[in-house]
Amino acid sequence: KVRVRFAPSPTGPLHIGGVRTALFNYLFAKKNGGDFILRIEDTDQNRFVEGAEQYIVDALNWCGILFDEGPSSPVARGDTYGKYGPYRQSERKHLYKDFAEKLIQKGKAYYAFDTSERLDFHRKDHEAKGKTFIYNWHNRLKLDNSLSLMPEEVRKRLESGEDYVIRFLTPPDEKLHLKDIIRGDIEIDTNILDDKVLFKSDGMPTYHLANIVDDHLMEISHVIRGEEWLPSLALHQQLYDAFGWEAPQFAHLPLIMKPVGKGKLSKRDGEKGGFPVFPLSWNDAMGYREAGYFPEAVVNFLALLGWNPGTEQELFSLEELVDSFSLDRVNKSGARFDPEKTKWYNQQYMHQKEDAVLAEMYMKVLSEKPIEIGSKEYVTNVVSLIKERATFVSDFWELSDYFFVAPTEYNEKVVKKQWKEGTKEIMGDLLEVVDTIKDFSSENVETKVKSWISEKELSFGKVMPPLRLVLVGDMKGPHIFDIMAMIGKTESMDRIKRAIA
Ligand code: GLU
Repeated sequence: KVRVRFAPSPTGPLHIGGVRTALFNYLFAKKNGGDFILRIEDTDQNRFVEGAEQYIVDALNWCGILFDEGPSSPVARGDTYGKYGPYRQSERKHLYKDFAEKLIQKGKAYYAFDTSERLDFHRKDHEAKGKTFIYNWHNRLKLDNSLSLMPEEVRKRLESGEDYVIRFLTPPDEKLHLKDIIRGDIEIDTNILDDKVLFKSDGMPTYHLANIVDDHLMEISHVIRGEEWLPSLALHQQLYDAFGWEAPQFAHLPLIMKPVGKGKLSKRDGEKGGFPVFPLSWNDAMGYREAGYFPEAVVNFLALLGWNPGTEQELFSLEELVDSFSLDRVNKSGARFDPEKTKWYNQQYMHQKEDAVLAEMYMKVLSEKPIEIGSKEYVTNVVSLIKERATFVSDFWELSDYFFVAPTEYNEKVVKKQWKEGTKEIMGDLLEVVDTIKDFSSENVETKVKSWISEKELSFGKVMPPLRLVLVGDMKGPHIFDIMAMIGKTESMDRIKRAIA
């Protein structure tokens, strides 16, 4: 059975790289009728950030990437918890030590007592000679560990409570054959690997040990994660072999690259897309949710960062993504993040959304302004007139303020160009015409005004631009008669009166 996991460390807000990893895991699971698991990797207490786990859960829920098993799943099935839970590594702490010791018994790992000062000294010393310090067969016998010490000495030091770590014993001169679903076969020479720390005397496993033990115990079939973890694959494969366990299959997703230039997209790219799904109190940066993105748009653009459907189709609902997804269509090369395209996706979803749904979102914005909002029907009609021009709900006000408040000033450039000799008189006459109109529908107002224009042999250019200026304050907005019908006869007349007063 396909079982995949998203295994974030709760060290801060979830950025799009993390959400993309979660999404690809989710899509793969659902496509194959499998389970998607959220596991919180919180063994590194120095990097632990209060609230980050809840943030991760909220961010995934907002995106609609729901997990089947996890620490607080909305759809968790109680029966799996007993078998695979708990899903926070800090709550699994008691499990790892035995596994680390098992490796020592098998001769695959060893105790090391080197202080961090000593290790720093060796690192600097190597650097000064233009070499890199690697803790493996190159150096390990010169260092302070159970391979260089007598067993008696090791036992004494352990008994006396001295700080230690448990390191993996990397064999020299071996060629490891690794497999990655996306990258194919990879060969690694063990001579370049160091003996990674697996366990520390504070009772905590490192990422590597906890990750492998949990993937095994949780019966993970496929590990899908970012390319930054590819360098760990050699160790992970060796750990599975050392335990005598069957390893899951691995798929390392391509990096997400900066919009321009070289390098991967980082948190510092902020506006350009590096920003998190939504901010938390400790981080006041903008998030996708705050920027006004629809979750569907975020999911859609993330899916296409590194995966392609093999067709021209660009718009996919989550269900359609599940249908079309496969790991063979994940690219090897980095996926360039394009903020303009991201906005384009939002626009597409904006056009698809029902006016009434958008109106509800807009009413929240409007309710914070010192204005009369009018009925939901009114706001819905406003939305239907302007949404084509908007990317975000937050653009609505700029595009439609004049539906709610009369202009308090007029765009000066437009005034200079459109308000000429005689305009005031024309507007005065128009006011009388408008006063006589009973049926104030857009079509009827248009017919009446246009027939008056031709009767009086006026040009459209003399009437329409000033009329728009008077009603809107600028040259923007949809069809002018739609605007008049919307704001109504009294308001239309008031605005004309005020302009010619
Ligand atoms: N805890 C790791 C992270 O923060 C998990 C990496 C993995 O998926 O193996 O991304």
